[in-house]
Amino acid sequence: MNLSYNENQQMIAEMVRDFGAKTIKPDMMKWDETQEFPVHVFKQLGELGLMGVLVPQEYGGSGFGYVEYVTAIAELAKIDGSIGLSMAAHNSLCTGHILQSGTEQQKKKWLPKLASAEWIGAWGLTEPNTGSDAGNMRTVAVRDGDHWVLNGAKNFITHGKSSNIAVVIARTGGVGDSHGMTAFVIEKPTEGFSAGRKEDKLGMRASETTELIFEDCRVPHENILGEVGEGFIQSMKVLDGGRISIAALSLGIAQGAYEAALAYSKERQQFNKPISQFQGIAFKLADMATEIEAAGLLTYRAAAMKDRGENVNKESAMAKLYASEVCVRAANEGVQIFGGYGYTKDYPAEKYYRDSKLCTIGEGTSEIQKLVISRAVLK
Ligand SMILES: Cc1cc2nc3c(=O)[nH]c(=O)nc-3n(C[C@H](O)[C@H](O)[C@H](O)COP(=O)(O)OP(=O)(O)OC[C@H]3O[C@@H](n4cnc5c(N)ncnc54)[C@H](O)[C@@H]3O)c2cc1C
Repeated sequence: MNLSYNENQQMIAEMVRDFGAKTIKPDMMKWDETQEFPVHVFKQLGELGLMGVLVPQEYGGSGFGYVEYVTAIAELAKIDGSIGLSMAAHNSLCTGHILQSGTEQQKKKWLPKLASAEWIGAWGLTEPNTGSDAGNMRTVAVRDGDHWVLNGAKNFITHGKSSNIAVVIARTGGVGDSHGMTAFVIEKPTEGFSAGRKEDKLGMRASETTELIFEDCRVPHENILGEVGEGFIQSMKVLDGGRISIAALSLGIAQGAYEAALAYSKERQQFNKPISQFQGIAFKLADMATEIEAAGLLTYRAAAMKDRGENVNKESAMAKLYASEVCVRAANEGVQIFGGYGYTKDYPAEKYYRDSKLCTIGEGTSEIQKLVISRAVLK
């Protein structure tokens, strides 16, 4: 979609389209089939400045804002949602948390490596028994001199295995106490820190998703982000930004599904005319186009507000909720417009359909977005 791209957005969009055509499109179905996480693609995205989009230039990043960030993710996701998802997790979760809460020394130490993609970053909040209810996490960190000792496990962590560094939230206080959790930066290798099982997923298959395991894992006190006890509050702020990235991901997948369906509807003939000339199909395309535009408006509004330093708690949740539900609907209608061919791997519709569903789940489900929005409107 093109909501009047500014010069930087135009440049990013052209760069991503060009890169996607040369580097992603030729192999993306192979990665999807084999669940390969193509690390080399992210190294190249680093060279293009897309692994440190929001990182100021003084720390080796591109120094762009959320508006440009949304454009980069949406354009990537239009090609392959998996690459968009991993790029988003690296940028706004791991890197974003260090950028948001790190000291000057910590930023100088880690951000240049992350922004260049010399290192890939992961972010661990979710646990096997606590997803939406992350505040009830069980992974514990206990102080031992100038170190903390972590025990427990995280799951569903994007590139948990292939990453070189992770921001991990662990319990340092009582269960259920929102001030009882702390954010730790853990470099690899660190003894007692390993990746566990890799998930075999419905979609987003080139984006690696694994467990993280902590067995008496010793982390220096100096690797804490902010203060002890701030980890949960920090994470909720990180997610306010992260949700804009999932809205962007949704937008890109929806737009890709729509454009593929639109083109096919003009080519496919039934009853001696293109199927686009049947009102039943044309109205589907009208709904898709309208909803995608509306999702774009919500997403870019949240991005612009974030760039102005405003509180986006409600607006990012609204953008994420609406764009992700639109994404699933558009991908579903995309398959329908392709008919039987939409159900095969010969056309892109089935992949958009599989990838789309993650958007209503990751970084807070649609139900959790409604919780956030309703709390804001009832305040
Ligand atoms: C591909 C993928 C990548 C991911 N990457 C990361 C990552 O990098 N880092 C990370 O920390 N996490 C990651 N996640 C985890 C993701 O954020 C969680 O899956 C998500 O927050 C939902 O948690 P859950 O899966 O435990 O579901 P649950 O919390 O068990 O929810 C199950 C159902 O109950 C509903 N529900 C729960 N509570 C309520 C409520 N109060 N009111 C109404 N309904 C409710 C939910 O909406 C959902 O429909 C990833 C997940 C996936 C699938």
